[in-house]
Amino acid sequence: MLNLKAVSVRGLSGVGAKTAEALENAGVSTYYDLLCKFPRAYEDHTPRYSLSETSPEHSSALVMRISSAPRIAYTASKKRVVRFSARLSDSEPLVNVVFFNQPYLLSTFHQGEDWLFYGRVTRSTGGWFMFSPSYEKPREDYSQAVPVYPSVSGIGSKKLAKIINTCLDAIENEEVAESLLEEILEEEGLPDIKSSFFSIHRPQSREEARRASERFAFEELFNFAVASIRLSRREDTKTVTPLKPQSLTPFTDSLPFELTDAQKRVISEISGDLTGNGNARCRAMRRLLQGDVGSGKTAVAAAAMYLVAKNGAKSVIMAPTEILARQHGANLERFFKMHGIPVYLLTGSTTAAARRQIEERLLSDEPLVLVGTHALFESGINASGIKLVVTDEQHRFGVKQREKLLSMADSPNSLVMSATPIPRTLAMFLYAGLDISIIDEVPKGRQEIQTVLIPPAKKERMYSFIKDELAKGRQGYVICPLVEEDEEGTDGLLSAEEVHEALSKTLAPFRVGLLHGKMKPANKKEIMEEYAAHNIDLLVSTTVIEVGIDVPNATVMAIENAERFGLAQLHQLRGRVGRGSEKSTCVLITPSSSRDALERLSFMCKCHDGFKIAEYDLEKRGPGDFFGSRQHGDMPFAFSEGIRDVAMLEHVTEIAKKYV
Ligand code: ADP
Ligand code: MG
Repeated sequence: MLNLKAVSVRGLSGVGAKTAEALENAGVSTYYDLLCKFPRAYEDHTPRYSLSETSPEHSSALVMRISSAPRIAYTASKKRVVRFSARLSDSEPLVNVVFFNQPYLLSTFHQGEDWLFYGRVTRSTGGWFMFSPSYEKPREDYSQAVPVYPSVSGIGSKKLAKIINTCLDAIENEEVAESLLEEILEEEGLPDIKSSFFSIHRPQSREEARRASERFAFEELFNFAVASIRLSRREDTKTVTPLKPQSLTPFTDSLPFELTDAQKRVISEISGDLTGNGNARCRAMRRLLQGDVGSGKTAVAAAAMYLVAKNGAKSVIMAPTEILARQHGANLERFFKMHGIPVYLLTGSTTAAARRQIEERLLSDEPLVLVGTHALFESGINASGIKLVVTDEQHRFGVKQREKLLSMADSPNSLVMSATPIPRTLAMFLYAGLDISIIDEVPKGRQEIQTVLIPPAKKERMYSFIKDELAKGRQGYVICPLVEEDEEGTDGLLSAEEVHEALSKTLAPFRVGLLHGKMKPANKKEIMEEYAAHNIDLLVSTTVIEVGIDVPNATVMAIENAERFGLAQLHQLRGRVGRGSEKSTCVLITPSSSRDALERLSFMCKCHDGFKIAEYDLEKRGPGDFFGSRQHGDMPFAFSEGIRDVAMLEHVTEIAKKYV
C-alpha cells in the first residue's frame, strides 16, 4: 500500500537535486504535495473548422497549415516578433500568427506544416491574428481538457506537467492509501484518492476534473472543520477571573464625536466578555472585530482599553506597520490624556533607553496602554501584567488570525480587528470557536469615494483629470495587476514597471514613484515614507499598498485591469483614498467587454458598503472565489474552486462534528 504523503519526490526520475530543492521551496516534498499542484486551467483542444466559430474573448483551437515562411518582424513599438500566416482551409481567410520574444521558434515552424494552435483569435484592420498561442503537433484525437499548470518557484509549467506525469505513471499500478475515512467517501459519494488525482491531471472532460476537485475541496474543508472543533473545545475548558465592570461614560463623553450605534453595540459585547457578563469565572475573550475601513474600530478598542485601565491593568495594541503604530499612538494619547492613562509607543526607532523605561513601566502596578508593531511584540516582551491584547490586522483576513487567537493558550483577553468584511456565513465557518463582532455602519457625514468605470480608450481624459488633482497639490495612485512584463499567462495585463516608465515621462514634472512586492522591504518602506512626506506625487503600485498606507492627501486612484481583482480587494484598495476631507475619486479601468465583469465592476461604482460588496461577491462567484488565495492571501484553501456553495460548508461542519 502506497502512502502518497510518505514518498519523497526525490525518487522520481527526472527530478534532480536542483529541481527537488525548487519543489521543496514551493512546499512540495512528497508525491501527495506534487499531485496537489492542480492545473490552473484546462484548454479545450477540440478543433474549430471556421473562424466564425472563434471569439476574441475565449481561446479556440485551430488546426492550420502554415502558408508563409516564418520570419522575424518588428511591431510598431519596436518589439521583435516571429510571425507567419496560416489557414484553416482554402475557403477560410489567412490568420497572422505572432509570437513575442521567442526567435528560436523560427526553427520550430515551417511553411507547409500543419499545427494545432490554441489561443484567442482577434480581428483588426490588419486582418485576423493569433498572438502567442500555445501549440502542439496535430493528432488523431484532441482532448477537451488539456491541463495547463502554473509555474512553481522557478519550475516552468511544462516541466511541472512532465514531473506530475512521471509521478502518475509511478503510481498507476500501485494500491494507494486513502486519506479520507472510507465511510465518509461512501456516504458522500466521493471518488477515491487515486482516481481523483488521475481525473484532475488526465481528465477526459472538464466535468470529470471538476467532480474530482470537489473531493479535494471536501477533504480540505473537512480537515479544517475538524481542527477548528478540536481547538475550540480545548479553549472552552479554560477560565479566567473577569475584570470589574466600569462606567464607560466618562470616556465616551470625552470623545470628540458621538459613537455610532454599531460602535456602542460592539463596545457592550466586548465589555461583556471582559467582565464575564457577571459570572465569577469566565472564558478569556477571543473576539474578532470586523469593520470596514473608517468604521471607527480604534475608538472601540480604546473603550476596551479604558475599561482595562480602570481596573488598574495594562493593554497592548499591535499594528502591522510602524506608520500605523505611530498613528494609533497619537490617537490614543489624545483619547486618554484627560483620563490620566499613560500611552507608550514602542517601535523599531524607539531608543534603547526609552525601551528600558517602558519595560520598567510594564513591571509596575500602574495601568498603561502600550502601542507597537507586531514584530516588536513577537520579539518578546514581559507580558505578565497585560490583561488585553488588541491586534490591528488592518487588511487581510485569514486563518492565521484565527490560529493566533486560538493558540494564545495562556494569554489574556484578545481582540483582533480586521478591515476586510467577510459575509457572516463564511466567517462562522472560518472562525468557528471565536466570537465575532461587526461594525456595519460608518460615522455620518463621510464622503463617498466617487467611483467610475472606463474603457482604456478614455485613459487620456483620466490622466488629464489626475494631472489637475496633482496640480492642486493632491496625490494619487495607479494600481496595476503585475510587477513586470512577461509574467506567465498574463497577456494584455499592464505591469507596474511599464506604467511607471511611461508615466514618469508623460506626467513630468510631477514625481512618479514605483512600489511593488518584489522590492526589498527597506526600499518599500522608503518609498512609502517618501510618498507620505509628499516627495512623490503619484505612486504606481501593485496591490502591496493594500497594507497600511494612510495618506489623507491622496484623492485619486486609478486601477488598471480592474476585472482581474476581486471586489473585496478593489474595495480595500479604494479605501486608500478618501481618507482626508477632500472629495476623492477612484477610476476602474477595464478592457473587458464581458457582461459579467462589467456588471460586477458597476456594482462597485454604486455600492460603498464593504459588507454588501462581500455578500454580492459571494452570491456571484461563490465561496470558492472567496477562499481562493487570490483574494485572501492567508487562506489555506488550495482547492477552493471545488467549493460549490455555502451549504457545502454547513454540511461539512455537520459531518466533522460527527467524527471528532
Ligand atoms: P478604522 O475602523 O478604519 O480603524 P478609525 O478607527 O481609524 O477607523 O476611525 C476613522 C476616523 O473616524 C478617525 O479619525 C476617528 O477619529 C473617526 N471616528 C471614529 N468613530 C467616529 C464616530 N462615531 N463619529 C465620527 N468620527 C468617528
Ligand atoms: Mg484602523
